[in-house]
Amino acid sequence: MAKYDFDLFVIGAGSGGVRAARVAALSGARVLVAEEHRVGGTCVIRGCVPKKLMVYASEFSKSFKTARGYGWTIDNARFDWTEFLRSKDKEIARLSGIYVRNLENAGAELVHGKAKLLDAHTIEVAGRSRVTAEKVLIATGGRPWMPKHLPGVEHAITSNEAFHLKEVPRRIVIAGGGYIAVEFACIFNGMGSEVHLVHRGPNILRGFDDDVRTHVAEELGRQGITVILGTQHTAIEQGKDGLVSQFASGHACESDVVMFALGREPYVEGLGLEAAGVKLNGNGAVVVDAYSRTNVENIWAVGDVTDRINLTPVAIREGHAFADTEFNGRPTHFDHDSVASGVFSQPPVGSVGLSEADARHKYGKVDIYLARFRPMKTGFVGDDERCLMKLVVEAAGQKIVGVHIVAPEAAEMIQMAAVAVKMGVTKEQWDATCAVHPTLAEELVTLREKYMPPSLGAAA
Ligand SMILES: Cc1cc2nc3c(=O)[nH]c(=O)nc-3n(C[C@H](O)[C@H](O)[C@H](O)COP(=O)(O)OP(=O)(O)OC[C@H]3O[C@@H](n4cnc5c(N)ncnc54)[C@H](O)[C@@H]3O)c2cc1C
Repeated sequence: MAKYDFDLFVIGAGSGGVRAARVAALSGARVLVAEEHRVGGTCVIRGCVPKKLMVYASEFSKSFKTARGYGWTIDNARFDWTEFLRSKDKEIARLSGIYVRNLENAGAELVHGKAKLLDAHTIEVAGRSRVTAEKVLIATGGRPWMPKHLPGVEHAITSNEAFHLKEVPRRIVIAGGGYIAVEFACIFNGMGSEVHLVHRGPNILRGFDDDVRTHVAEELGRQGITVILGTQHTAIEQGKDGLVSQFASGHACESDVVMFALGREPYVEGLGLEAAGVKLNGNGAVVVDAYSRTNVENIWAVGDVTDRINLTPVAIREGHAFADTEFNGRPTHFDHDSVASGVFSQPPVGSVGLSEADARHKYGKVDIYLARFRPMKTGFVGDDERCLMKLVVEAAGQKIVGVHIVAPEAAEMIQMAAVAVKMGVTKEQWDATCAVHPTLAEELVTLREKYMPPSLGAAA
């Protein structure tokens, strides 16, 4: 008789957990997955997917404006938020169902309820049933971080609730400068809300290339989003006509909704990690090695709960690598270098590799190639929108170490650029690629002149 009820117990049916469970189950392992909310996790239920659908919905307002410049007459275009939410929720339910079926078809079992480790091999689900497993995978993701002691914080929503608002807010204050804050600012702006984006740092999108950050901040401003930097909430009060945000700068702002997108924290609460002896780092994330193994021999962790690169494809690859290593006899670890990412702002961002500042820090001397221009489609109708394309090349070896794009479809473009960067392409090899015309992306392969910032150019 087997020593344990299951070969693998997966806690969390999100991006990382589902992939690991499926791959392990397909190898013939007996796998049980616990999910306390809905199968699909953050990405499917309250992250990437519903967010992208909201981006699509909000982009139509600009498309209608552009269409008029191309000769279209659009009468009575109206947006029905309730109808959109109904369709969105139907789609999310469909996708969640596919995840459930994929798990079942692979032969994994699913149990609903919160899982808690009682020791390294024993897990309690929903405070009732107990099972044992030889191996345990923690894939519990993250959740929005809230400043718990801020007066009036109970009035604020997070991205979780933004997907279920009863109506499009007439006025919204979004606190935060990360990609989620920026994306929602654009979403609500596109849907007609008056948007204030408030961030305590000197610029939005920390971690991205500085030219990208400045470019996006300018584009947001140009579209009518009020970007307020260098301050933060000191309180939220219920006023006569809405919520009043009080800021450290002494200013106040009234709105119908206040949304906090101030970062996310690993979701480890009530997981029983102390009982199992699993170590956390200073940020509350599970500490793992390159193979996602924790300090406890039979326990692994993947995805946002480990706070490495908090993106869906990364969680999936970490989960897959774990299952390949432990159940398919193929020791594999995911390489976190040069992971591309998109910000679905309007215009969106695509980025892979090092920012100029990080490349200078790493390599000393770098060559920069940069273009700012108006896209043909919106330039035609007199729109002032501008694109940015930037290559960062390490000077000694001429390898392209960073590609940064702010443009329509930037996230689509960066996926392909990421292949080249990951392969270690040189600028000469990149330039040998012939352009596709007329496209935005052709600018990327026709950047020949080294860029000199205006200040340096004048001095040179
Ligand atoms: C608004 C938003 C937009 C995003 N947009 C993007 C994007 O465009 N692109 C991108 O790549 N990434 C995006 N992300 C990030 C992405 O969603 C996460 O990186 C990804 O979902 C992480 O996967 P995971 O498997 O680690 O965790 P999750 O997908 O969060 O799954 C964890 C699961 O574990 C469950 N769980 C937790 N604790 C327990 C327990 N004790 N017992 C049972 N179940 C438990 C949770 O209910 C959840 O279903 C976005 C995130 C947010 C919030």
